[in-house]
Amino acid sequence: MTAAVVLYTADLRLHDHPPLCSALSSHDEVVPLFVRDRDIEKLPFNAPNRRAFLADCLADLHRGLRERGGRLVVRSGDVVEEVCAVVREADAGEVHMASGPSGYAHARESRLRQALERQGRRLRVHDAVVSALGAGAVVPAGSDHFAVFTPYFRRWSQQDIRGTLGAPGPVRVPGTVTSQDIPTRADVTGISPGLARGGETEGRALLNAWLRSGISRYAEVHDDLAADATSHLSPHLHFGTLSPAEVVHRARSAAGEGAEAFVRQVCWRDFHQQVLDARPHTTAHDYRTRHDRWRSGGGAEEEIQAWKEGRTGYPVIDAAMRQLRHQGWMHNRGRLLTASFLTKTLYMDWRVGAAHFLDLLVDGDLANNQLNWQWVAGTGTDTRPNRVLNPVRQARRYDPDGAYVRRWVPELAGIEGPAVHEPWKLPADERARYAYPERMVTLEAGLERFRRGRGIE
Ligand code: FAD
Repeated sequence: MTAAVVLYTADLRLHDHPPLCSALSSHDEVVPLFVRDRDIEKLPFNAPNRRAFLADCLADLHRGLRERGGRLVVRSGDVVEEVCAVVREADAGEVHMASGPSGYAHARESRLRQALERQGRRLRVHDAVVSALGAGAVVPAGSDHFAVFTPYFRRWSQQDIRGTLGAPGPVRVPGTVTSQDIPTRADVTGISPGLARGGETEGRALLNAWLRSGISRYAEVHDDLAADATSHLSPHLHFGTLSPAEVVHRARSAAGEGAEAFVRQVCWRDFHQQVLDARPHTTAHDYRTRHDRWRSGGGAEEEIQAWKEGRTGYPVIDAAMRQLRHQGWMHNRGRLLTASFLTKTLYMDWRVGAAHFLDLLVDGDLANNQLNWQWVAGTGTDTRPNRVLNPVRQARRYDPDGAYVRRWVPELAGIEGPAVHEPWKLPADERARYAYPERMVTLEAGLERFRRGRGIE
């Protein structure tokens, strides 16, 4: 009898799971293990929305394993100590896991490898589990990563993404290994009221519905705020309840303009992961410094608070910030506008905005969140670092009738049509009927401050 451990991290699924398939193909018994990592749980990163979604994912994984005669083993503590303890309990010869792009994932992998080797056991790390293509699979001449998306996308599109694997048959888990109870969503407080449900079953149903009836219109409607017609697959990709390789293959077989545009978006995930993999410090430091002198003091704290609460006086910004609070999710166009507003109109440090997003986003992800914030702030990989998104023009374009704003800012629901985007233009007596704040700064004053702060001529 031989045994192996499969350490789950951000890949909480049964379908298309190379570490699990590999372990099952060469061992009689396998321990599917999730460790509630003490080092991660004590970080602010461990926010309620993601904890709740994670609990759904673990429960669903456990259910799927039970149907195959197995179970999920959950432990908590130091991840390396817990894996080593489970290895001893199961008398396992090897541990399989997915590689991850963050500095933390790299350090975890090397600590684990050393600890296992000291016990005469082996760590086997699988690439292209949390991304469609492994982080280092394509590199440009003379560098260790692509710094610009378009050439990356070109090379990425020419690669063969590995074929997908089916869900496993029976899973035999050694009876000697003990588990804690699986955490439940009910244990978590402070969850956004409109938070999506997690788990592979839910993710696969969402993907099937998306391929059947959403993807074909994606190219036309993905930026339309009110239509809300993007896939909403991001939390499932973040927690790995869906396999990115499978998502790409199935989207490609849907064909058409919508599918092409969608696959390009999924490629952004891989792009940011390969940047983070090569430059782990970019979670907290500028990828390309612009020598910003971000504002602080002099009312900055109050302005940040108003931005967080959706009280800036710019309706589309406030709508998006309130969507974030209510759903733990925000439309991509909203993320672009609110991030541009904070970093360029208010001229506040992107780290402040990124931290607030991580407090709430159910898909909150170090690679995607920090590097998208940097992209918008102009300290990242955008080739036009000083572009500023005008929230009024953008609102008129991407919410032409104002329906998105009226949905999330109910105090303005009485204003019809696109006039809702500029309540300051209403006659004073009409304006007074709406309990809505004044603009915290005009766009012209904001732009001037940004240009001065960044030293733009
Ligand atoms: P769709 O439009 O259906 O796209 C399909 C998938 O492609 C998404 O699920 C996502 O995995 C990927 N994707 C789409 N756009 C991007 C992008 N710009 N960068 C990377 N991947 C992308 N995405 C996260 O998953 N986690 C984050 O923490 C996150 N933070 C962001 C912060 C800012 C400031 C900005 C501008 C964007 C951020 N994004 C983040 C990217 C994007 O907004 C979301 O992935 C997208 O809105 C999720 O909705 P969807 O699944 O319906 O996307």
